[in-house]
Amino acid sequence: MNNTFSASISKEFETDILVIGSGSAGSTAAIAAAKSKYKVTIAERYGFPGGTSTQMLDTFYGFFTPGDTPKKIVGGIPDLVVNRLNKTGNIFLRPNTYGAGTGVNYNPERLKQVWDNLLTESGVEIFYHSTLVGVEAIGEINKCIFFHKGLGFFMIKAKRVIDASGDADFCRWANLPFEKAGEKEPAQSMTTTFRMCNVNLQKFAEAGGKKMLKQKMKASVESGKHPLPRKEGSAHEMCQPKCISTVAVKVTDKDALDINQLTEAEKEGRRQAFLFEDFFREEVPGYEDAKIIGVSHQIGVRETRRVYGHYRLTREDFMEARQFKDQILLCGAPIEDHRKSATGESETFWQYVPKSGIYGVPYGTIVPKESDTVWVVGRCFSATHDAHASCRSMAQTMSMGQAAGLAAVQSLEEDSNAINIDVQKTRNKLLELGGIVEIPKNEADTSRNGWANNF
Ligand SMILES: Cc1cc2nc3c(=O)[nH]c(=O)nc-3n(C[C@H](O)[C@H](O)[C@H](O)COP(=O)(O)OP(=O)(O)OC[C@H]3O[C@@H](n4cnc5c(N)ncnc54)[C@H](O)[C@@H]3O)c2cc1C
Repeated sequence: MNNTFSASISKEFETDILVIGSGSAGSTAAIAAAKSKYKVTIAERYGFPGGTSTQMLDTFYGFFTPGDTPKKIVGGIPDLVVNRLNKTGNIFLRPNTYGAGTGVNYNPERLKQVWDNLLTESGVEIFYHSTLVGVEAIGEINKCIFFHKGLGFFMIKAKRVIDASGDADFCRWANLPFEKAGEKEPAQSMTTTFRMCNVNLQKFAEAGGKKMLKQKMKASVESGKHPLPRKEGSAHEMCQPKCISTVAVKVTDKDALDINQLTEAEKEGRRQAFLFEDFFREEVPGYEDAKIIGVSHQIGVRETRRVYGHYRLTREDFMEARQFKDQILLCGAPIEDHRKSATGESETFWQYVPKSGIYGVPYGTIVPKESDTVWVVGRCFSATHDAHASCRSMAQTMSMGQAAGLAAVQSLEEDSNAINIDVQKTRNKLLELGGIVEIPKNEADTSRNGWANNF
């Protein structure tokens, strides 16, 4: 436990349920928890919500299973988010171009406002620009220390905590056990995303579209004319007209938790983004007059800490398409592991869920060991490297969030430890919200909640 801040705490706040991090997992957790009589607070280090969902991406994967007969396997608050985006025309479905299944493409700037609105309407107390920097106590009352540049160090005391920081920062400061990515298998690479405007999409399509782009990338790398880090990558249309979002940068062998290495990674990510800009403008028909209009707020980090929970999702669970009595969400996403090949080249390793193509994620994966009042959701939940490489899409991180939000409320109502709550009751509450916890049996089930038919 970190006790060094006591002397300099400028202010104290109290809440029932504290969510740390307002990414897709944290925001959903707070919205779910706020459907109760309890006070819910969310604290976020940046000045906007959404984390990876808004600061660098524009496509929700994981709502649908990949393949020819996609099933919709996520619902509830994630549907609400999609419906809100749909109302303002900030969404479209993207067919299965890159292997991860049908993507739900959105305008990330509008999503910031949707998260803002949903949190505010739910009555969540929001602290932006507030970074968790220490934990003084865990248990009946969790004492969390934050830093805000106006307030200095301040404390939030909470009866329950949901760690949605992506990096498991609460668990780290509270000395709860975790595996650091890279300890056992190589950590996944990092990616700075960038967006280009003024692309002539018709000219691009007429010149051969994505197939042509791949050939040009390969030729440019092989000839040495443009030393791109990869021979492939996603460059896809955005909601904003004539704009393309690109997930192609690849920064390997850097530890995102090391200050010097992360600094180098940020610089390298931007360097590569502008290599791509040169390549697109010089080689790809339709991009002659295009320019980068935005680079992700920070480099995208796929994994850092994975907490040890009461259950650890494994490759075997994935390979067996296992179902669990206490499962709180479903996943059909492939393992998508961005890594180096044996020869040192960048590659993306894909593996699809066999058998039914869908596995269940049990409740124990979001409850850290050695704690009674804490949950961990999103990209730091309890999973091995491989299982995590499948279960990290945003439809799944949102589903973890909504389950944790409901579970935290229930543990207060039942005056129970996180792991001892009646999980069947949580599952029923998830169903009431529109969540999906069992494999849909027929086609009618796959279109429940309707939104998929609307656009
Ligand atoms: C390059 C890349 C491409 C991807 N592509 C896709 C894709 O196309 N589709 C898809 O569905 N998934 C994709 N993923 C995976 C998915 O985006 C992530 O797994 C998911 O967004 C993680 O959500 P999260 O809420 O757990 O974490 P994050 O989105 O990282 O949110 C964590 C939040 O906590 C905040 N925070 C962190 N530390 C602190 C602290 N100490 N105090 C206060 N706040 C803190 C952060 O600022 C952030 O807002 C991609 C991931 C990457 C990196």
